[in-house]
Amino acid sequence: MNKLERIDYPLKQQPNGDYLWLNLFRINSGNIGPHVHIQANVHGAELQGNVVIHELIDWFINNPFQGSITFVPFANPSAVNQKSGMYTQGRYNPVSGKNWNRNYIDLVNLDEGKSNFKLEKFVRDNISKEYCEVVENFKSALFNICDNIEKNPTDRAQHNEDGNFNLLLQKVASPADIVLDLHTGPVATHYIYTLDKQKDSAQYFKFPHYLIIPAAFDGAMDEASFMPWVQLSEEFKKQGSDLENNFESYTIELGSEERISFSEGRTDALRILNYLGHKKVHQESIIDLPSVDVKTCLLKDYRSYYAPRGGLYEFCKEPGESFKKGDVLAKSLNYKPVKNEESFKKAIEEVLAFEDGVVINHSTSASLAGGHPLYQVMENISSET
Ligand SMILES: [Zn+2]
Repeated sequence: MNKLERIDYPLKQQPNGDYLWLNLFRINSGNIGPHVHIQANVHGAELQGNVVIHELIDWFINNPFQGSITFVPFANPSAVNQKSGMYTQGRYNPVSGKNWNRNYIDLVNLDEGKSNFKLEKFVRDNISKEYCEVVENFKSALFNICDNIEKNPTDRAQHNEDGNFNLLLQKVASPADIVLDLHTGPVATHYIYTLDKQKDSAQYFKFPHYLIIPAAFDGAMDEASFMPWVQLSEEFKKQGSDLENNFESYTIELGSEERISFSEGRTDALRILNYLGHKKVHQESIIDLPSVDVKTCLLKDYRSYYAPRGGLYEFCKEPGESFKKGDVLAKSLNYKPVKNEESFKKAIEEVLAFEDGVVINHSTSASLAGGHPLYQVMENISSET
């Protein structure tokens, strides 16, 4: 049996003086191998990752593996505790209005005064070193950049809540070779955001839907994790050498928000274990995975439908369901156009599909203003079984 260690970080002091804590769980195999960081519930209503982490901790306590693994369930206690009526809010910080998953920092592109780090110099100093040493040095550099920002903020805005929160998660994840950020959609199927270069590896998750994202920084945890390594290997190339980039990070969407399923959590944990086996974290063969039809598209073909008018909407297609151009995706009810028996039928309007596609998620609410998000769908899909 492997030992489970708990580490508590004071995350935020509330106005009454009490703290909210970030609770980390770490298991070290005692063997050399990759370090894995898995966090869940950065968005308040996206609960299912906490169940998956429970399954994974159970597995890692009881099975031999290589390397070490850190779990951060309930990664954003502010958000999960932010209730309004029966609903959990917590996608946006209610004070700043910012999305909790968009304030991570592009660590290697900060100005040197803030980070005390210059990528060009790092590569110059490491270019003739062994691969493993370069990787360890770079992980330490990432940790030190986070530490420098935290301890010596030259920018006073750095001390806002959004910055503090995201920076702490980045600091905790800095020793990782693999970062998995567990989210959910609104009412959604299972899908994964992956870099093009990781897409063969991503197939080991045995997920049904993959969105291919560009190697660019937009403030999310997956990007904040993989971009430093992408930029490191680019700088090596610029200085005339090749550095293999084995780092991988993903945003994993585990179905719908505001729900928990222990049986689905078991299957999703097996999917993650299957991927981690591929990454040499363990040597067990993972069985009982459901077979899936895999559908993939580029981020530019991940398209939104917005409510063409205000009204009450029935969603006629389920998450995961395919549709054809011209199919009815939704029906809305609104009495505004009704003046008499002739115009009565205008109370109902249909939303038709612009192109063929697959529904990935739809709004949680049936009551929508004009322009509110209705569906997100995949188009121009490439499929394999
Ligand atoms: Zn999310």
